[in-house]
Amino acid sequence: MEIAPGVHQVEGVRGCNVFLLGSDKLALVDTGMAGSVGAIERYLTRIGRPREALKLVVVTHCHVDHTWSLAKLRWAQPLLVAAHEAEAPYIDGRLPPLGVQGSGFVRGIQRLISSRHRRKSVPVDVSLRDGSHLDFGLDVRVLHTPGHTPGSISLYLPGPRLLLVGDAISNRYGRLRLPPRATTVDMDKARHSVARLAALDVEVVCFGHGPTLAWRSSDALRDLLAR
Ligand SMILES: [Zn+2]
Ligand SMILES: [Zn+2]
Repeated sequence: MEIAPGVHQVEGVRGCNVFLLGSDKLALVDTGMAGSVGAIERYLTRIGRPREALKLVVVTHCHVDHTWSLAKLRWAQPLLVAAHEAEAPYIDGRLPPLGVQGSGFVRGIQRLISSRHRRKSVPVDVSLRDGSHLDFGLDVRVLHTPGHTPGSISLYLPGPRLLLVGDAISNRYGRLRLPPRATTVDMDKARHSVARLAALDVEVVCFGHGPTLAWRSSDALRDLLAR
C-alpha cells in the first residue's frame, strides 16, 4: 500500500510493520519476524521493482520483531544496514540483547531471543546519528528518539510531513500508546522522545505496531502526552 509518494507499507509481513522508501533505489525500514522476506519480495514484484533495487535496510531498533529477517536479507544480496550508533552493538552482537522486565513467561521469551541473537547478529554498515540524512529520492531525516531502547530512531520526511516512529509510539487497541514498560529501558526518555515528536509538524504517522494515522496526527501526539 502506497501511503504517500515513494512511501509504501509492505503487506503480509509478520511481527511489525515494515515500510519501503524511495523509487529507483529503495530503503526498507525494519524487517519483521521469520517468514517476512517472502512478503517483502512479493511486494517488490507487485510494485514492479527488482530485488536489487533494495539498497539499504534502516533498523529503527534492535528488537527481534523488527530485526529477525535482517540476516536473511543481508546475506542474500548486497545491501547496507543502517542503525543508530547506540543501537549498533545490539544488532552486530557486541552486546547481549537488552533485558526484559517481567514474569517467567517473558523471561522464557528472553532466553529464546538470546539464543537467536548469537546466531543472527548482522554488521551495521551505516552508523546514524540524530540529524543524519538519508537520500532515496526523498528527504529523510533521522531523529534519535531513545527510551524504548538506547538507539531507537524515528524518521521524518518533511515533504509529506510523514513520521515513522518505530516503537517510540504504538497505535494499538484504538489509541496511541507509549512503548510497553516491560520492553522499554527508560520510560522518562521514552516520554521525552514523544514530546520531541509531538513538536513536529506532522500529517501522517506510521508505527511499528498498529495502523497508520493520517488525520490530526500532531493533535493525537500532543494528546498522548497530556494523558
Ligand atoms: Zn521494540
Ligand atoms: Zn516492536
